Amino acid sequence: MHREFATGFRRTRPRRSYKNFGLFCLAHGSDIGNRYPCLACRGQGRIDDPADPPCPVKGFKHVRHIDCPACRGSGKGTKEACRQAYRETVDAYCQEKDEYDRLVRLRKAAFARLTKDEITALRELGV
Ligand SMILES: [Zn+2]
Repeated sequence: MHREFATGFRRTRPRRSYKNFGLFCLAHGSDIGNRYPCLACRGQGRIDDPADPPCPVKGFKHVRHIDCPACRGSGKGTKEACRQAYRETVDAYCQEKDEYDRLVRLRKAAFARLTKDEITALRELGV
């Protein structure tokens, strides 16, 4: 049977990517000696050389590395840069959550206008 809408997609409740700032830093390469990692290289101090394209067969496995230009190879970033990037993930989450909550309210309002029989029909057949 032909369906007009793609199946399998359903917006789910958004979740925060990182519960707090410390976990954000940890996920981006912080460790005991490097609390605020460089975000460009995730605290590694090295990046894949953009002038050395990946092998079509072996991919990035044997790609040449160079010192990360953002941190000059130290792997260290700044607290402010990490804070800023963390704030951006929180803002993006809040925007997604607001939109999700708006849709939930719309659905609730729509269901409130339906009769019991209409709700039963939607439940049994879908939309
Ligand atoms: Zn770096």
